[in-house]
Amino acid sequence: MASATSQMAVQAGRIRVLKERLRELEGEVGPVVYWMFRDQRVRDNWALIHAVHQANKDSVPVAVVFNLFDQFLGAKARHFGFMLRGLRQLSRDIEHTLHIPFFLVQGEAEDTIPNFLRECGASLLVTDFSPLREVQRCKADICKRVSDLVAVHEVDAHNVVPLWVASEKLEYSAKTIRGKITKRLSEYLIDFPTIEPPTRKWVTENQPIDWDDVIDGVLSRKGAEVPELQWCEPGEIAAMEVLMGNKNGFLTKRLKNYSVDRNDPSKPSGLSGLSPYLHFGQISAQRCALEARKLRSSSPQAVDAFLEELIVRRELADNFCFYQPHYDSLMGAWEWARKTLLDHAKDKREHIYSREQLEKGQTADPLWNASQKEMVYHGKMHGYMRMYWAKKILEWTSGPEEALEICIYLNDKYEIDGRDPNGYVGCMWSICGVHDQGWRERPIFGKIRYMNYAGCKRKFDVDRYIAYVNKLVGELRKRKAENLLSEKDKVLHR
Ligand SMILES: Cc1cc2nc3c(=O)[nH]c(=O)nc-3n(C[C@H](O)[C@H](O)[C@H](O)COP(=O)(O)OP(=O)(O)OC[C@H]3O[C@@H](n4cnc5c(N)ncnc54)[C@H](O)[C@@H]3O)c2cc1C
Repeated sequence: MASATSQMAVQAGRIRVLKERLRELEGEVGPVVYWMFRDQRVRDNWALIHAVHQANKDSVPVAVVFNLFDQFLGAKARHFGFMLRGLRQLSRDIEHTLHIPFFLVQGEAEDTIPNFLRECGASLLVTDFSPLREVQRCKADICKRVSDLVAVHEVDAHNVVPLWVASEKLEYSAKTIRGKITKRLSEYLIDFPTIEPPTRKWVTENQPIDWDDVIDGVLSRKGAEVPELQWCEPGEIAAMEVLMGNKNGFLTKRLKNYSVDRNDPSKPSGLSGLSPYLHFGQISAQRCALEARKLRSSSPQAVDAFLEELIVRRELADNFCFYQPHYDSLMGAWEWARKTLLDHAKDKREHIYSREQLEKGQTADPLWNASQKEMVYHGKMHGYMRMYWAKKILEWTSGPEEALEICIYLNDKYEIDGRDPNGYVGCMWSICGVHDQGWRERPIFGKIRYMNYAGCKRKFDVDRYIAYVNKLVGELRKRKAENLLSEKDKVLHR
């Protein structure tokens, strides 16, 4: 492994220069600032590695700044809590191990980041990459607002093969992108260098962050109706435990049956459980892939299936959101799919449910209701059920536009891994046939792939899944009632 001081530079293909420095620096070069957004981790983070490398090259200090948006795509207490608790660990970790200061700013990043750069006289802003339009727009604004003396670099620290290297265009399906990604793996699926503390120290003291105060404040104001999850511990250490832990780690204990069990919702531990960590960037997909690859000789099918999801499908989702501006609307569907959906938009439906009925899981289908409950209470619906769940929304609403809107609304509100390119593409795949092919034409769905209860019954033990969700929800309700009682008790004895 190379260390950061002797460090290899991050591969040029991983970096996009969003803005060159427009004027030559007259005096000294200013510090480097890494605006951390999507890749919230210290380890295995190409954006951080690039920031430290650039700082050492110019012999200047480096800082990490995180902007806490007032609102982000309707995130709730569940999401803010997971993220902020992860960031609390990260801030301590990065300051202790790398002596890099971590700053938390609050508001709109278009304002806070340029202000921060101005105050510390930075010459380089490094950011990580997200294809979502809000983030891209925000970066474009930041580039306009920072001084001519500041350059802005975007590093794809999320994808194994940088998005723009894998493909320069909107890909049609996994089939069209798979070869493009796999041919670059020897170049990009490489080990990470270890980072050492930067050679120049940050001079000004950063105010300690009162994390309890920040977390309590945010959680009391934002989306308390979707509470935090107790089962899913946030942070890099917990993420590595899920990947490699001795007790129940995915690669250490659960990998063997992945290729079969991942499609069985009644066996929830058949999946890796990594999506919350991947979504918040608390673990690097590249680390997961490197570790999984080491086990290929003993579990070839499982490893291949996992890498297909982790790399090909996940990176295909980023490709869609980056190159398709309408990634979350019917306008983003391929022509054949839009046509078939509109041809069948007025077809008679056996049931029509409102958003409220769906949200409360009040349909005539116990399997669907169970999956909705799994999402609302547990915060992570099984991957196989997500497809069935979304397709039924198409069947039970007044048309594809409404179906897609409700699907994205519920997904983003309740799934701990929601508000992610995988989520937009998952909903678009299920309802609009994105990355899929046309199938035999039928009412409502037209040529979009169909799924039904009978098919699920053939594939897995439906009753066992429903019983599993009921037990889960029962336990959660019991715990909630106990907590309420003990809160009341405390108030009475005060
Ligand atoms: C309607 C619908 C909505 C979805 N919403 C989301 C979402 O909001 N966030 C999210 O991360 N995923 C979403 N997915 C994709 C997939 O269902 C989840 O990534 C997976 O269930 C997460 O659980 P896991 O990490 O235990 O899965 P594993 O099977 O262990 O997969 C490992 C990783 O591979 C990637 N992956 C797996 N399946 C897919 C897929 N179909 N497309 C792209 N990447 C994939 C994910 O990063 C996942 O964490 C959705 C799929 C559908 C059909």
